[in-house]
Amino acid sequence: MTQMQPSVLVVEDEPAQREVLVYNLEREGFRVIKAGDGNEAVLLVDEERPDLVLLDWMLPGVSGIEICRQIKMKPSLRQTPVIMLSARSEEVDKVRGLETGADDYVVKPYSLAELLARVKTQLRRTRPASVGEHLTYDDIMLDSGTHRVYRSKQELKLGPTEFRLLTTLMEKPGRVWSREQLLDRVWGRDVYVDTRTVDVHVGRLRKALKCTGADDPIRTVRGAGYALG
Ligand code: CA
Repeated sequence: MTQMQPSVLVVEDEPAQREVLVYNLEREGFRVIKAGDGNEAVLLVDEERPDLVLLDWMLPGVSGIEICRQIKMKPSLRQTPVIMLSARSEEVDKVRGLETGADDYVVKPYSLAELLARVKTQLRRTRPASVGEHLTYDDIMLDSGTHRVYRSKQELKLGPTEFRLLTTLMEKPGRVWSREQLLDRVWGRDVYVDTRTVDVHVGRLRKALKCTGADDPIRTVRGAGYALG
């Protein structure tokens, strides 16, 4: 399974509540990682680099607030959206939650529909293609719902790997991706593929993008990898 599927880390110590969340998130197409306490959560955030964290406030061991603070203090994790879940409904707690850097705050008992909508709102910002948004860059338009790509309104023919590569690059224009990062994201972490394979597919993608006679928008960053623009 590739990392194109957005991943959510669920941190919840009540097994029944955790399983309800896991079941519903998987049904929505998310890859779900779960943790039952704070220490496990801290390890998994680092190891798995989830696209979003659903974080219960009251946990044995390290509290949700403390985990949130740790995530938001690390430059490599800071962009990861965190939604705090809490039985506490006092306004002061909500403020405290958001002050720690949580991106959103949901009070228990919550409606699953509302929670899923909030998850998608966060991902629309950080992983727009994964929630079916159109991506645009210059004259390139990528429709993640229909898997079609257009350049200056002309449809391009892309293979599935080139499509996933372009999606990844278009979600973060300007970001430099190393070959290893692209392998993880586009091919999946458990697949053994030589990093040269990345070069081959970037080459194919470039060729497809240039077929309209337009410029090559992909930049090779020597010793680092590839970036869009
Ligand atoms: Ca709890």
